[in-house]
This record gives sequence, C-alpha cells and structure tokens, in this order.
Amino acid sequence: MSRKKKEIIATAKHIRIFEYVLFERDRQEELLKKGKFQYNAATKGIRAKAKLPILVEEVGEVAKVINEMSDQGIANDPAELKKELIQIAAVCFAWIESIEEDPT
Ligand SMILES: [Mg+2]
Repeated sequence: MSRKKKEIIATAKHIRIFEYVLFERDRQEELLKKGKFQYNAATKGIRAKAKLPILVEEVGEVAKVINEMSDQGIANDPAELKKELIQIAAVCFAWIESIEEDPT
C-alpha cells in the first residue's frame, strides 16, 4: 500500500477498541485450533470466495441485532451490537493478515 506517511495519534479510546479487536482475533484463532471451524479468514490457501461467507455471517448477526431493536432504535442489548461489530473487525483483520502474507 503506497500512502504518504502521516502522523496518526491514537487516543486511549482507539487503543481500547483495537485491543477488543485483537482479543477477538485471538479468540477466533483459538476456536480454529479447537476445531470449531476448518479454516478462518487468515488461513493460508483459502480463497476469497470461501472467506466471504465468514464475514457475511458476522454482518448478518449485526443485522439481526439491529432488526430486534425497538422502533426508537434502542438495542435490547447494546453490548451485543458492540460484540458483533468487534467480530466483524476481527474477521477483516484476519483477512487483511492473509493478504499481507500472500497477496495472490
Ligand atoms: Mg457473531
């Protein structure tokens, strides 16, 4: 990726959110090791067409949480929405990792 280097200042909030994603990324890797899935978005040799359903499933879970909100848009469980968004970010993180390792 060629981008002009720019100073980025991470706030404590940014770092906390990044940590949530890394913890989730690690949790997903542990689930893979325990055999819950055959592969994840970081697995080498898995094509994008096989990774997309992993991401779409997580997006669907966000949609479910939103669909279950009240008419005023209030989540029944705001923590659930946050959890599912973090899971999406972790899947994206894993997928980007695999692209970094093998851009083909
Ligand atoms: Mg989920």
